[in-house]
Amino acid sequence: MVAEQLRPHGVTDERVLGAMVSVPREEFLAPRMRRHAYEDRALAIECGQTISQPLVVALMIQAASPQPEDVALEVGTGSGYAAAVLSRLCRKVVSVEREPALAEQASETLRRLGFDNVEVAVGDGSFGWPSDAPYNVILVAAAASGVPPALIDQLADGGRMVIPVAVSAQEPQDLRVYVRRGPDVMYRSLFPVLFVPLRSG
Ligand code: SAH
Repeated sequence: MVAEQLRPHGVTDERVLGAMVSVPREEFLAPRMRRHAYEDRALAIECGQTISQPLVVALMIQAASPQPEDVALEVGTGSGYAAAVLSRLCRKVVSVEREPALAEQASETLRRLGFDNVEVAVGDGSFGWPSDAPYNVILVAAAASGVPPALIDQLADGGRMVIPVAVSAQEPQDLRVYVRRGPDVMYRSLFPVLFVPLRSG
């Protein structure tokens, strides 16, 4: 994964590469999908959702630049895979998932594998998770047409949020990194992506 999929495609941060090496992606998949675990693509999980492509997970985390003392929020736990990788690089990860069945399974997988600095919560992540805010890092794994205001509000000073934005129905989504500096929040575009939609409720 590191030599063929990640390094040649722009993942250069050794901490991120190390975290990717340390998390067994197959453990986050149903048994029948496990033989595909090291293909560089998104794969089906329960509830019609997907586990993200490893390259996209690595590039998102690299762009968010997590630091050892950081508290991170993930919106869209899915399988729990990205939360697991992120948890290796910061102090605590709070991950919010709207599908209770996925949240329960991810939480069980994370517990079984010993990722004890990840907390999985059930809810609509477009409202963030106020009780642990502000966050130094926010990763959003589902695309919305605009950035939910609550997520901007919960971004710490100096914090980085990586989020796919559905600019129009005709175009691929725009993966962006938003950075807060005091009251100002600015973004730059990373690359086009295709995520499942951020659904409300
Ligand atoms: N990070 C995941 C990929 C998740 S796919 C992984 O590594 O496996 C996106 C997930 O976002 C899906 O599980 C979907 O149910 C969830 N989702 C969609 N809208 C949401 C919302 N408003 N709040 C929380 N989760 C949401």
